[in-house]
Amino acid sequence: MITKLKDVSTTPLPCKICGGEAALFGVVDFAKHCSEARVRRLPLSGMPVYYRRCLSCEFLFTDAFDDWSEATFKAEIYNDGYIEVDPDYRQVRPTGNARLVHSLFGANKTELRVLDYGGGDGLLSETLRSSGFPEPRTFDPFVADFARPLEEKFDIVTCFETLEHMPDPTAGIAAIVASMKETGLVLFSTLVQPPDFEMLGVNWWYVGPRNGHVSIFSRAALVRAWRSHGYQTASFDDNLHMAFRSLPEFARHLLDQA
Ligand SMILES: [Zn+2]
Repeated sequence: MITKLKDVSTTPLPCKICGGEAALFGVVDFAKHCSEARVRRLPLSGMPVYYRRCLSCEFLFTDAFDDWSEATFKAEIYNDGYIEVDPDYRQVRPTGNARLVHSLFGANKTELRVLDYGGGDGLLSETLRSSGFPEPRTFDPFVADFARPLEEKFDIVTCFETLEHMPDPTAGIAAIVASMKETGLVLFSTLVQPPDFEMLGVNWWYVGPRNGHVSIFSRAALVRAWRSHGYQTASFDDNLHMAFRSLPEFARHLLDQA
């Protein structure tokens, strides 16, 4: 039996991104996860997790875990079973993303301080360090070694597959912004809702409470979330995006790609 979820209400709640009206939209079992097409489905838990969708910006979220502490998240979601429902977490994703960062910014690497926000075990930073980026750092509230917020300011903050895990994405984005130099760049990934999302509903594979996907962005919600901090966004595709106040010199060449 997992820790109690917040009681569900049929009354619309304010959207966590824009404050618009977010009515109940769909419900899945807590055991639903994002790797069901690759690894086995888990036995149903009997715990329904309701998601809401904003009528205005179309952000999809659940408030079911909003009363959970970080310790509860660690016990129930980011526990020993997590790797089973997110098999790329340890190796494949961080090393792939390190290659991506190197291919985009390698030309200026000796001048760029990088923070990997939500960086898990720190492998992305470690890989960047060995390829010549000076002192890359990691922050992750769920990994003891990297849970302490950093005082420094960075040229680049990477944030891969993290925003969708945030029960309070507005606060999360504010924390990222607080780590940025004035002329910095955020390179981040989160998959936005596809055009046929209305039809797929919460059956869409990316809606997965067991692996902590609690905040599912629409493109409008993504733009809105960053704009409230004075940041513009540009997307390479449905998954990879960047955000900045003004595009830094070291990222000019990306304009043709995004
Ligand atoms: Zn909204």
